[in-house]
Amino acid sequence: MNFEEKEPTDWSNDVSCRNCGDTGFTVKTVEGVSSATRCACIAERRAGTLESAAGIPKKYAGVTVDNYRIPQDNSTVMHAMQLLTMRTRRFATSFPSLHEPRGLLLQGPNGVGKTHLAVAALRTILAAGFDGRFLWYQDLMRLIKDGFQQNFASSSFTTAYNQLQDVDILLIDDLGANRATEFVEDSITELIAYRYNHEKAMIVTTNYSLVEGATDYLGDRVGRRVVSRLHEMCMILECPAVPDYRKKT
Ligand SMILES: [Zn+2]
Repeated sequence: MNFEEKEPTDWSNDVSCRNCGDTGFTVKTVEGVSSATRCACIAERRAGTLESAAGIPKKYAGVTVDNYRIPQDNSTVMHAMQLLTMRTRRFATSFPSLHEPRGLLLQGPNGVGKTHLAVAALRTILAAGFDGRFLWYQDLMRLIKDGFQQNFASSSFTTAYNQLQDVDILLIDDLGANRATEFVEDSITELIAYRYNHEKAMIVTTNYSLVEGATDYLGDRVGRRVVSRLHEMCMILECPAVPDYRKKT
């Protein structure tokens, strides 16, 4: 390859990286010898591609741990939420953890910003170059039902399902929002077991309790096996109940 050194001002306005002119390389000449290095924009473009492939809903496009709003009028809640954001940030920036649990589960009532934090963690991980997928629990159920109807033979099902098995990080939002049929329960158990066996992490949010015997026990919605596996796979963070959190922020 033959690289020519150019001034950054040479690039026209339709080039997105003025540093390398979208070639992906910057060239330095030292004492007559030219050498090329990868431009930082390659990593940025990869992160952008990873983010658009992750299926994050538009509503959550710009969320970060920093823009998670913490109510200031109740010091107990404020401290609990500060701890929550700190742990979420640590999980995301140190991904992948070398030890179990590798994942994160955010449990708590509706409307306290669990999905916000979960997506913020996912986006941090994508920005570091890992591939991931956001999946609303209802969509996971629908995917499995559609696959069943097509006898799991369609290539679109296989592609989608393989992606859920193999991405570096899978976010399932609102786990347990609907009661699963036995078949869906088996399929979800299998998916989670596959990821566990292949040391693939998950991020999960749920409104339901992880405590067996609770009236709103998650195991009654998705099966006890799923809950027990998630206990092994995920650091569990409980989100405090905040009255009217959405109204206040
Ligand atoms: Zn560049």
